[in-house]
Amino acid sequence: MPWFAKNINFLASGDLPAHWSTQDKNKFLNKVKNFYWDDPYLFKYCHDQIFQRCIPDNEVSSVIKFCHYEACKGHFSSKKTTVKILQCGFYWPTIFKDTHTFYKTCENCQKVDIGQNVLLYNSRLHLFPRKLRLRWSDPFIEKHVYPYGTFDIENPKNDNVFKVNRHRLKAYFDNFPSENESIGLNDPVYKG
Ligand SMILES: [Zn+2]
Repeated sequence: MPWFAKNINFLASGDLPAHWSTQDKNKFLNKVKNFYWDDPYLFKYCHDQIFQRCIPDNEVSSVIKFCHYEACKGHFSSKKTTVKILQCGFYWPTIFKDTHTFYKTCENCQKVDIGQNVLLYNSRLHLFPRKLRLRWSDPFIEKHVYPYGTFDIENPKNDNVFKVNRHRLKAYFDNFPSENESIGLNDPVYKG
């Protein structure tokens, strides 16, 4: 049964389950007025007079997969994937949660090999006018991967091992172009 089975039943027959309380019925009626049934599809009225097609549970993962990498051959972030799904005109109630879970379990997106050299992002920012320079440290060695993107890394100079979050790491390659990266900023940023 898709998550919207009750909506279709109601829109097709006008019947509500007899055992529902008045409160449940009112709540449902208030929600279901945003749906439109055009056999075999159910649409949800969203903002700006746009109808999004309701996706049944068993099609959710193929829609996410399509928007995450198949459509443009790039592995988009969870947020960008969600935007793409909405732009494609698809809807289901747990769209944000499901896309995030999918992204977190996408091997390609989470893959950092054990033993791989990584660079640790130095959180002390060195600031220049209208430019933020990110500094990357000397390479560390990936020792252990935990769920939710946490890693143990080892400093090869003193064998110290410590935990860091994935977004502070970057895979290191021998031909890595430079120690620093620059990002143009529109507004001045204060030293943190
Ligand atoms: Zn991915």
